[in-house]
Amino acid sequence: MKLFVVIEPEAEMNKSLRSICHLHSILYRNIDNSVSSAYNITMHELPALLHRNRTLTDAEFKVLLASDQFDSDLAALADAVRREYYGTDVYLRGLIEFTNYCKNDCFYCGIRKGNEAVERYRLSADEILVCCETGYALGYRTFVLQGGEDLWYTDEKLVGIIAKIRKRYEDCAVTLSFGERSKESYRSFFDAGANRYLLRHETANEYHYHRLHPPTMNWNKRLDCLWSLKEIGYQVGSGFMVGSPYQTTECLIADLRFLEQLRPDMIGIGPFLAHRDTPFHSFANGSLQLTLRMISISRLMFPNALIPSTTALGTVDPFGREHGLRCGANVLMPNLSPVAVRKKYALYDNKICTNEEAAECRHDLEQRVADAGYKIVTHIGNVKPLDLSCKQM
Ligand code: SAM
Repeated sequence: MKLFVVIEPEAEMNKSLRSICHLHSILYRNIDNSVSSAYNITMHELPALLHRNRTLTDAEFKVLLASDQFDSDLAALADAVRREYYGTDVYLRGLIEFTNYCKNDCFYCGIRKGNEAVERYRLSADEILVCCETGYALGYRTFVLQGGEDLWYTDEKLVGIIAKIRKRYEDCAVTLSFGERSKESYRSFFDAGANRYLLRHETANEYHYHRLHPPTMNWNKRLDCLWSLKEIGYQVGSGFMVGSPYQTTECLIADLRFLEQLRPDMIGIGPFLAHRDTPFHSFANGSLQLTLRMISISRLMFPNALIPSTTALGTVDPFGREHGLRCGANVLMPNLSPVAVRKKYALYDNKICTNEEAAECRHDLEQRVADAGYKIVTHIGNVKPLDLSCKQM
């Protein structure tokens, strides 16, 4: 369906624009995707419109994404929304990178199977439990088991590890993030006590997906995994890199549309960063500014979402994580992996925090977060319910 808007003389302009906005709220995606001259007048209102309606048309998103002129408004609104839901609280997730073996060959990833320069490692169940113990003492109430797609860890082994963590740390969330498995496997992990699963969709554009992955990998399969996880009852996290090779503005808009369908509890957005030993070694890193813009937009679209300020953001800029928090993020995922293996889990070059002990890292973050105007809390950090009351124009 197309909507044609006739522009009135100047005196009538504001009234017309208000009615355009009103129609947007009803017709969002049915509106003609071109940007008419009337939109030039409303440009500055786009952040407020997004705040009000929690969505925009593709044409409006395109305008927001293509310019830095909205960034401070987007960030201010995103921060106000995060404060409405989460105050100044910052939730911590203790990341345990338990294996860097991977059967996949994603073109962007430093631990891809084809990277022979990687020194591979696997943590035992006991080593993982030591990480949890350290983390618990430091106030972590969520443990994230992340790794490459490593079939050495059979379902049985993983169920055993998850069940042990669950038994020892009843008041903690167990989050998994080790890629694609069958629905039955996901169910067995859930039954063993896992609560959350992080699986970035990477890109919602199938063509783009195939430029980032070898032909053996399947975009539909990845998306199916996300729907299965949701069906099983996990709190689900998805997301994507910003500035990955061949990504266009349309790809980013498709990512937002996909998130609108999936409605994940967690949204992980970080810049693409090149790794020297991957096919994408010579591509430019994703931009800090565009990543922050995507975080703010995501906060406005998904007010109650758990949005991490990622390690990749902290790598692209020394204060990237603080900027992320100010732009609407409310989660940090410090590393709990043994220092001896940290450098071996290099998804990209120059990854930060590979030398720090967990306690050192925790204290450093406490200060950084406080300096940014927020507060780390010792909390399981579940997602808050969405306020469904419709915002009025
Ligand atoms: N294997 C699991 C999976 O596929 O979800 C989890 C590990 S995977 C390495 C975690 C995430 O790291 C990916 O979803 C991807 O978005 C991100 N990542 C990988 N390589 C990256 C790079 N070069 N720059 C930024 N992020 C990267």
